[in-house]
Formats: sequence, C-alpha cells, structure tokens
Amino acid sequence: MSGGRAGNLEKPTEKCGVVGASLAGRDAARPLYYSLYALQHRGQESAGIVTHDGFQQHSHVEMGLVGDAFGEDDIDGLAGSAGIGHVRYPTAGSVDKSCAQPFTVSFKSGSLALSHNGNLVNSDEIRDELAGKGHAFTSDGDTEVIAHDLARNLLEEDLIRAVKRTMNRIHGSYSLAIMHDDTVLGVRDPEGNRPLVIGEVEDGYVVASESAAIDTIDGELVRDVRPGELVVLQPDGEGFDTYQLVERERTAHCFFEHVYFARPDSVIDGSLVYEVRRELGRKLWEESGIETDVVMPVPDSGRAFASGYAEAAQEDGSDVEFAEGMMKNRYVGRTFIMPTQDERERAVRLKLNPIKSTVEGRTVTLIDDSIVRGTTSTQLVQLLKDCGAEEVHMRIGAPPIVAPCYMGINMATRGELIASDKSVGDIRDAIDADSLAYLSKEAIAESLETEKGDLCLGCVTGEYPYDIDDEETDRDVTRPVIEGASSDD
Ligand code: 5GP
Ligand code: MG
Repeated sequence: MSGGRAGNLEKPTEKCGVVGASLAGRDAARPLYYSLYALQHRGQESAGIVTHDGFQQHSHVEMGLVGDAFGEDDIDGLAGSAGIGHVRYPTAGSVDKSCAQPFTVSFKSGSLALSHNGNLVNSDEIRDELAGKGHAFTSDGDTEVIAHDLARNLLEEDLIRAVKRTMNRIHGSYSLAIMHDDTVLGVRDPEGNRPLVIGEVEDGYVVASESAAIDTIDGELVRDVRPGELVVLQPDGEGFDTYQLVERERTAHCFFEHVYFARPDSVIDGSLVYEVRRELGRKLWEESGIETDVVMPVPDSGRAFASGYAEAAQEDGSDVEFAEGMMKNRYVGRTFIMPTQDERERAVRLKLNPIKSTVEGRTVTLIDDSIVRGTTSTQLVQLLKDCGAEEVHMRIGAPPIVAPCYMGINMATRGELIASDKSVGDIRDAIDADSLAYLSKEAIAESLETEKGDLCLGCVTGEYPYDIDDEETDRDVTRPVIEGASSDD
C-alpha cells in the first residue's frame, strides 16, 4: 500500500463501543443488543453482533442506529450463548459498510470476530507486511489488520500467546472484544487509552466499553480491564481468566472520555463520570468563577459541569441562580455529523433554543464541556444576546483543544480547531463572549485523582503518548519495528 506511514493519520479515526458476552445456556444476542443500545452514544454509523453457537458463527451487521439495524428476526437468527457487538462512530464522508463491525475472518484453525474501539498508528506497516505474505484485505480499516495479525499468530501459537504477540506488534489505542470460535475475549491496550470493563450477569460474564451497558442488562460491574490485560470469558459462563500480557510504567487514559464522550452514569477507571464532571465544574468556579445573575449549561454536555460550578459558587456565598436556560431538540443528531460549516451552524440552531425569560436583561454564565471548532459557542453567544442577555460569559470544562486526536475521538484537523492558532483572548473575540475561560490541565488530573503523566492529553498539549509520525511524544516511546513492511515513501 502506498502513501507512507503518514497515511495512517489521515484515515478517519474511530471512537466506538464494544461489547462481548459469554452466558450459560441462553442466547447472547438479546443482551448484546440491549448493551449496544446503552452504548449508542459511542457510535451511530453502524451496529453489529456476531454470535457463535459452538459450531458456527452468525452475524448481523448493518448501517444505522442499533434500533434500525436490528429487527426481531435478525436477533432471533443470532444463535449461540457467546457473542460480541459493536457500534461505530460516524466519520465525515465515510459511510462504508466495509468498515462496519464486528469484523469476521475464517482461517485454518477456526473463526475470529473482532470489535475495536480506538485507533492504531502503525496499521499500514503491519498491513504491508501481511499483504506481502499473502493476506488479502477487504477494507482500509485498522481493525481488519488486527484480525489478520491475530489469525496469523493463531496458526503458530495458543490463544494467549497469539494475543500477546499481536499486542507487541500493534501500536496505538485499542479496546477489543474478540471471539475466537466460541471463546470471548476482552483486551485493553497497554496504556489503557480507551475504557473497557468486566461485568457479571446472572448467568455469565461480559466485557463492555462502559459500565452503563452492564447496568442495562441488570449486571454488576466487576472492575476495569487493566491496561495491557487480556480477559478470557469461560465459554460456560462460569467465570473469567485474566492475563497481564504487556506492562507499562505509565498509563495514558483519555481524559476526554471523562469530559465529554462517556455516559455520565458510567464508571471508568474507578470514577463515576458524572461526579468527575461535577468536580471539574467546581474547579472551573475556583479557577475562573465570575459573578453573574444566572449560570446555565449547554445541554446536555455542559450539565454536570454547570451544576458543580453553581454549587461551588453558592457555597462561596454567590447568589447566582442555576437554571436550564436552553432547551434541546432531542431528535437532532450530533452536530459533528454535518459535513459543511453552514450545515453545522444550522444544526446548532435546530438543536438548541433559549428560554427567553431566563436570559432577558440578565448577565449569563454559559457552561460547556469543550470548544472544538467554535461553532457551538459562537452560535449560542449570539443567540443569548439576541434573546436579550446583557452579558454572556463562557466557561469551558476542558483546556483549549489545540491538536487533533489520533486515538479514536473524531476530532477535527488542526486547521479546523479554533484553539490551534488562537489565544484565549482571540477566541473570546471570535465567539463574541464578554469573557472566556477554560479549565487547567492540573484540574483535570486532580479531579481524576491521577497524575497528568498517566493521562493522554494529546489534544490539549500536542504531545502524545504514542509514537506518531510528525508529532511530539510526551514519553519515551517508539513504535515496534515491523520487519518486511515497505519503507516510508
Ligand atoms: P464546536 O461547536 O466548538 O465545534 O464543538 C463543541 C461542542 O461539540 C461541545 O458542545 C461539545 O460537547 C461537542 N463535542 C466535543 N467533542 C466532540 C466530539 O468528538 N464529537 C461530537 N459529536 N461532539 C463533540
Ligand atoms: Mg455539546
């Protein structure tokens, strides 16, 4: 494949949801389907489930939302008490079924199905090498690369060694649900970049991107899968075995999962996302609180931040009112799906409408989790002013996003990121707010009760925990050398 290694970086990244289940004597398809519903926020482009009945695989993968992708008959057709599922995040322009998952492959020693959340930064090198050895690829995604690499290793090694070998070759972020014949596995990359948890249900065990998926099927969260760990669910639903296959000194958990991406009712790496967001809101008040008549969130992503912010303000003696000053039309999809700037602006207006009485003649603090392109803030400041707000002060629950994400969150390129070349003052001018403040990186680490060095802060520092072409790293890390890959061109 030509294009060189940098070609990796232009590929759409995938932030997705994965799930796997191994139950005793009951089909896995329905609980998997409900779990995917619970993970719908992690991907709306396609949904799929692959099960295994002890003899063969059954697969149903469709474009669209979970509720549209599956009918009763489709679920009934998915026989077997072992299975995995996937929801895929839409990436601008690409609506390609070849990238929908779970990805399946049959080979000499069995069948494999694979669901991936994350993004590899060395998949082209491995693809080159495997293509040179005769592997035929049907998509340009990195998930297929993992599947082929694992299939190849399984010809020579037992399951656990084969997974370890693949983990030592792939570089980047991955939370995986894998099914080898009817054995379901969960794997989390050595930096723990994307979340993955183990859950227990009445008659078996599951792995899932978020604990909310386990709640939905009346299960109990057991614990997070550890960075670099392999979890093997026993096919009879009796338990699971774990293997620490790769160890690193430092983790690189994505802070943005906590700020924006994950559901507030999920517990990730030991913290309830809702509480983290409220704590971030409290820190936002401590760092840059401003007295206004009213504090309001941008729904829904700013809600927990605004409630923490207002609570901390009131504890400090402020008589600021906390109000829902804006209503959201829940039938409008996420604004990022819109391909053009014009459509994105229109979508914000479709999606959010102010409640005039809360803002008219008043000073307002508007709180959101993040600013990416600046579209939402620009539109909302204008909207509130049009409704008679006297002043609009923006407070943001994350640091300025200055660089793209290569790790699986669909973040724009540098050129589109408003903070990539603008100071906070310039952004304030651009969005026409009376004041603007972001949260510090230190506040993020404190709220997550961790060190900055154990987080992936790539999008707010421009330094990544992985070896990415043409980018800086924040640690001593080099990608594995893949013998036989064609050189950089
Ligand atoms: P902006 O309008 O500045 O481009 O984007 C900021 C808004 O998008 C915020 O309200 C935030 O909640 C949301 N947002 C942040 N990151 C993402 C993302 O990766 N995908 C989507 N769909 N929305 C995001
Ligand atoms: Mg938002």
